[in-house]
Amino acid sequence: MGAFASNFVIHRANVDMRDMSASNPVDCMKYVVVTGGVLSGLGKGITASSIGVLLKSAGLRLTSVKIDPYLNSDAGTMSPFEHGEVFVLDDGGEVDLDLGNYERFLDVALTRENNITTGKVYANVIEKERRGDYLGKTVQVVPHITNEIQDWIERVAHVSADGSGETPDACVIELGGTVGDIESAPFIEALRQFQFRVGQDNVCFVHVSLVPVMGPVGEQKTKPTQHTVKELRGLGIIPDILVCRSEVPLEDETREKLAAFCHVGTDAVVSAHDVSNLYQIPISLYEQSVLSKVSEHLGFEVPDTLPMLEDWKEMADKVDRLEEEVHIAMVGKYTGLSDSYLSVIKALQHSAYAVDRKLVIDWIESTDLDPHYVTEKHDEAWDLLKAADGILVPGGFGNRGVEGKIAAANYARINNVPYLGVCLGLQIATIEFCRNVLGLENANSTEFDENTPNPAVVFMPEISKTHMGGTMRLGTKPTPFLVDDCKMKRLYGGAKHVDERHRHRYEVNPDLIERIEAEGLVYVGKDETGQRCEIMELENHPYYVGTQYHPEFKSRPNRPSPPFLGLLKAAVGQEI
Ligand code: GLN
Repeated sequence: MGAFASNFVIHRANVDMRDMSASNPVDCMKYVVVTGGVLSGLGKGITASSIGVLLKSAGLRLTSVKIDPYLNSDAGTMSPFEHGEVFVLDDGGEVDLDLGNYERFLDVALTRENNITTGKVYANVIEKERRGDYLGKTVQVVPHITNEIQDWIERVAHVSADGSGETPDACVIELGGTVGDIESAPFIEALRQFQFRVGQDNVCFVHVSLVPVMGPVGEQKTKPTQHTVKELRGLGIIPDILVCRSEVPLEDETREKLAAFCHVGTDAVVSAHDVSNLYQIPISLYEQSVLSKVSEHLGFEVPDTLPMLEDWKEMADKVDRLEEEVHIAMVGKYTGLSDSYLSVIKALQHSAYAVDRKLVIDWIESTDLDPHYVTEKHDEAWDLLKAADGILVPGGFGNRGVEGKIAAANYARINNVPYLGVCLGLQIATIEFCRNVLGLENANSTEFDENTPNPAVVFMPEISKTHMGGTMRLGTKPTPFLVDDCKMKRLYGGAKHVDERHRHRYEVNPDLIERIEAEGLVYVGKDETGQRCEIMELENHPYYVGTQYHPEFKSRPNRPSPPFLGLLKAAVGQEI
């Protein structure tokens, strides 16, 4: 934890983290802008959301904006195996996974407007030009694109995101990509202008950089950071705080050198060294006085007691202490990018903490479980599956690995192993049941076999077959429970209905529901029309459930998603 650990004192009041309502209104909207240099993947998103946690614990109401300088309108058409998971919002926005980090860390619910992309900005400007809004002017990157960006930021910053309906006090803005990229240039220019639009005292610039460690004595190299700061300053943005990613805490000498070369105070050079778990990052930043630095710059008071941060630290320390393991087999498609299932991993982690276990995810490539095409890793994959305490089949598209997933669902069903199927995972369990309990030969989803003699899962009538982006059944839809008592209803605290987020094109074939349910696989929750299957639960099994929606998107560190919590409870043998 570095040299600052001993300074850690957060005064605790007896207040629950969730009940903490904002009590520290500021005079006008404050902005924290997080940029990044040297290379991508330094953890700008985590830095930005951690600073958000600090501001929130100081009593500010928060929202956030993620800027992605790519031409796609949204992340919906992007491969999760290249870019990480597509995060889905309440309003059906398909956005960058960093918005998930903000929602989880800040406990807010964002909208598609909170994710600005080059594609969206240009689409707006071009539409305005066609409408004649620019009154005969030549439409240019500066000022039309840059103004559009600034207007957009200002507009969404004022929209409540914490469910209170109150205007936020502060907005954390993360600019994706790396400073110096051609793509991000208009955004940097917009942000440069923005500080004058809203007042320099209302914007705090944080730049995230890398300090590599080299040679036998582990010398901390400052040159990459010097260069990226020089580049940023050349574009007119002077960072107020430098956050330096490095394996180990920054040495005093490194801080001094960076301060001298980068035109910041030594106390504004912050070390973002490796920590035991992500929840320790806000704590580490707090210990290095990041909160007081930001509050001095933006002009708000930090209260004497920070109960939310105290709770946060307790959670971070608890995660470090967990020893006893629980193994969950994740049966999916892998290309080595675990970010493709980020929210699922988070929901599993939140649930594992709740049952006091250390989570171990056993990644199983579903093609290796395929009983028909035996791969080299077949035996190894089956051993791993059989050793797991619970099995999870996450969402997915396309037919690769489907037979392996069906085999995993079959194994869980007949061996009483806890199973959670998310979206595709529910469809897989349904196909397995149709084949092996109802005896419907070659039952399948029409997504995987258009000519299946027994379509167990079918294309939804209202979905477009010709367009990809934004044409699925997306976003939050209410799902009423149709039974008085079942495991899932108990897990949702006896709720009459649940509001969860969707992203799919296919559904359980309505013509088969009655036959499936008669054999014990019951759809305990359906959509408001009573036709569309949403929540599945098998009778006489410790935990064999599925959801057509994606419960992982609404999981929070201190409020794990109920279906995931159920999986973990069942996996450790707890009563549901
Ligand atoms: N491919 C399936 C569908 O479109 C499942 C989607 C998912 O798992 N998100 O219905």
